[in-house]
Amino acid sequence: EAKTTGRDMALFYSMETDQRAVARQTMEQQLRRALERHELSLHYQPRLSAQGAQLLGVEALLRWTSPVLGSIPPSEFIPIAEETGMIRAIGSWVLQQACEQWVRWQQLVLDAGVGDAASLHPLARVSISVNLSAAQMSDPALVTDIEALLLRTGMPAHRLELEITESQLMDNAHAAEQQLAALKALGVQLSIDDFGTGYSSLAYLKRFDIDRLKVDKSFVRDMLANPADMAITRAIIALGHTLGLRIVAEGVEDLATAQVLSALDCEELQGYHFSRPLPVPELEAWACQHQPSGAPVREAAVLA
Ligand code: C2E
Ligand code: MG
Ligand code: MG
Ligand code: MG
Repeated sequence: EAKTTGRDMALFYSMETDQRAVARQTMEQQLRRALERHELSLHYQPRLSAQGAQLLGVEALLRWTSPVLGSIPPSEFIPIAEETGMIRAIGSWVLQQACEQWVRWQQLVLDAGVGDAASLHPLARVSISVNLSAAQMSDPALVTDIEALLLRTGMPAHRLELEITESQLMDNAHAAEQQLAALKALGVQLSIDDFGTGYSSLAYLKRFDIDRLKVDKSFVRDMLANPADMAITRAIIALGHTLGLRIVAEGVEDLATAQVLSALDCEELQGYHFSRPLPVPELEAWACQHQPSGAPVREAAVLA
């Protein structure tokens, strides 16, 4: 993602049509009040084990519904939040919401019926993943803020997973290495998101104390139709395993892809095939009716 300087912005405005500049400005003005007006919310998307389709975690994904502009996808408003610095307030709101939500799920139990002991709700055992922006990663207060948040909410560190992209790591690899080490010392989990779309130095990848690689959905989505995507996905899985990392495939849209990924020893799967990102009540309903298969998804798979 490009860093936008004042000069770039001037150029941007001179090249854009007036209409687009006004639209961008309107969005920025609306976004400035979105938090205080309670227009932001989080949806959550399940992440499952490839072996047995067990619910392992959920990823928090930001949603903005503006009364003026309607619902705006994160790909449009997060870059604006980053350019304007609003992402710090938004990012810390996201972290707090996610931790508070985890604690609420922790307190839920399933009513197992008269005479039976109440059993844990399936969402009481999950981890929560939160996407971090570049501005948060370069914030010296990030680690102490997260430490304070964990203490305040009672969320155990090992249930919180932070997702960072390759470019966030590589743009300032030395600072990122120290920041990640400090986060890791808190006990949180770390993932590299959208892996394969940025650039990574393998030497650095080895030095970062990472738990998971998330294979970008652009490779996963078409891997059965596109041999290059399949080759890249296999290579990322092999590389990740060599480094002792767990692999998550994002953008799994159909059963056949899930089966092939499972046969390739990809540990975790996320995508529309299982569930879209959902608001809390719908996620809770999904989690209660979801049946883990108990057996590897791979059993029906036929690899070419
Ligand atoms: P991401 O972290 O890589 O999240 C995965 C994106 O892929 C989400 O898009 C999700 O809805 C979408 N997705 C999931 N499964 C499938 C599938 O099977 N097929 C397809 N085509 N797409 C799938 P979304 O929610 O629009 O978010 C886009 C990006 O915005 C995220 O990509 C993340 O980079 C960023 N983002 C979202 N929430 C936050 C946040 O709270 N903070 C920050 N800094 N970034 C966020
Ligand atoms: Mg992510
Ligand atoms: Mg991301
Ligand atoms: Mg991603």
